[in-house]
Amino acid sequence: MWALTPLSEEQREIQRVAREFARQEIAPHSHEWDRDAYFDPSLPRKLGELGFLGMMIPEKYDGLGLDTLTYLVALEEIATVDASVAVMLSVHNSLPTQMILRWGSTEQKTRFLRPMARGELLGAFALSEPEAGSDAASLRCQAVRDGDHWVLNGTKAWVSSGPYAGVIIAMARTDQPNERRGARGISAFIVTPDLPGFHVGKKENKMGLRASPTVQLSFDNLRVPATNLLGQEGMGFIYSMQSLDNGRLGISAQAIGIAEAALRHSAAYAAERRQFRKPIKEFEAIQFKLADMATRVAASRALLHMSATAKDRGEQITQFGSMSKLLASETAMWVTTQAIQIFGGYGYVKDYPIERLFRDAKVTEIYEGTSEIQRIVIARELYSR
Ligand SMILES: Cc1cc2nc3c(=O)[nH]c(=O)nc-3n(C[C@H](O)[C@H](O)[C@H](O)COP(=O)(O)OP(=O)(O)OC[C@H]3O[C@@H](n4cnc5c(N)ncnc54)[C@H](O)[C@@H]3O)c2cc1C
Repeated sequence: MWALTPLSEEQREIQRVAREFARQEIAPHSHEWDRDAYFDPSLPRKLGELGFLGMMIPEKYDGLGLDTLTYLVALEEIATVDASVAVMLSVHNSLPTQMILRWGSTEQKTRFLRPMARGELLGAFALSEPEAGSDAASLRCQAVRDGDHWVLNGTKAWVSSGPYAGVIIAMARTDQPNERRGARGISAFIVTPDLPGFHVGKKENKMGLRASPTVQLSFDNLRVPATNLLGQEGMGFIYSMQSLDNGRLGISAQAIGIAEAALRHSAAYAAERRQFRKPIKEFEAIQFKLADMATRVAASRALLHMSATAKDRGEQITQFGSMSKLLASETAMWVTTQAIQIFGGYGYVKDYPIERLFRDAKVTEIYEGTSEIQRIVIARELYSR
C-alpha cells in the first residue's frame, strides 16, 4: 500500500496483523455473512484479543494507545476484506470509546473503557431517529430527571451493532417541551442494554453492509442512573458533532478499503479474462479505467492520511474530516461502478465479490453525514476562517 509518509515499523506490524486476521478469520465467511445478513458474535472478542477494539484507548485502560493514522491503516486492511466488520470497528473506536475518553468521568472511564478495549463490551452510537437524520438536532427522544435517575422515552434509528452493543452513547433531549433550547437542549447518556425499559426493535434489511446489524432501539421509561450522563448536561449534540469529525476519518478508511479491494480484483481479472484473443488489460479502454481507479484511491488515501496526521497534531479537522469522507466515499462508489464494468456480466452476479463491494460502497455516501451534508460543512468552513 502506498502511503503519504513511510509507515513506521510499528504501523507496518499492526497493518500486517490486521491483514492476516482479515484473511484468516473474516475472508472465508464474508460471502455467507453477507448472504445471510449474519453477525458473528464471537468477532468482538477475537478483535479485542488483538487490541483492535482499543486502538486509541490509552494503555492504562488496557488499550493500545495508538495514533489515528495507525488505527486507520488497520481499519483499511479490514475493510478491503469486509466492510461490515470495518464499520463495527469504526463506530466502536471512533465514537463511544473516544467520547467516554474525552468527556467521561474517572468512574465512567474505569468502568467502561477497559471492557471496551478488551472486546467484552461493544460500543454503539445512537444519534439518529426515524424523523431526525441530517437534521439530527431535531431529535425527540426525551430525558426527564427523576431523583438520581434520568427517565428516557423515544426511539433511536439506524443503530449500527445495536443488538450486540454493551454500551450505547445515546442522545436525548434534556430541555423541556415548553422551553426548547435547540442543539443545546440535547445531552449524551451512557446506556447499557441491561437497564429496565431498553428494547431492541426492527432490524433493517439492507442493500449492503448486510453483516453489520442495524436496528432501532426503543426506550420505554428507560431508567438511566444520573451517573451515566456523559459530560455536561446540554452538550450531547456538540459532543456528537465534534466526535463525528473523527468518525468520518474511520468511514473514509472503510471506503478506501472497499475501493482498494475493487481495484485489486479488477486488475487481476483484467489480466486473466481474454476476449478477441488477448487479455482485456491490453485494451486501452480497460487500462484507462484501471489508471483512473488507482489515481482516485491514492488521492483519497493521501487526503485521509493528511487529515489523520493533522488530527494527531491536535488541529481541528472539521473541514478535512468532511473532505476526506466526501472524496473517499464518492471514490468507493465510482471505483466499484468501474469494477463492475471491467468484470462485465460477471460483475453483476454473486460469484465474484464485486457486486458486494458495490452494494457496500453506497452507504459510505450516506451515514455519518450524507455527501450533501459534507459539502455544506466544507463550504461553511471556507467562510469561518
Ligand atoms: C447502514 C446505516 C447505518 C447507520 N448507523 C448509524 C449509527 O450507528 N448511529 C446513528 O446515529 N445513525 C446511523 N445511521 C443514520 C445515518 O447517519 C443517516 O441515515 C444519515 O445521517 C442521513 O439521514 P436520513 O437517512 O434520515 O436522510 P435525510 O436526512 O432524510 O436526507 C434525505 C436526503 O436529503 C438530503 N438533505 C437533507 N438535508 C439537506 C440539506 N440541508 N441540504 C441538502 N440536502 C439535504 C440528504 O443529503 C439526503 O440526500 C446509519 C444509517 C445507515 C443507512
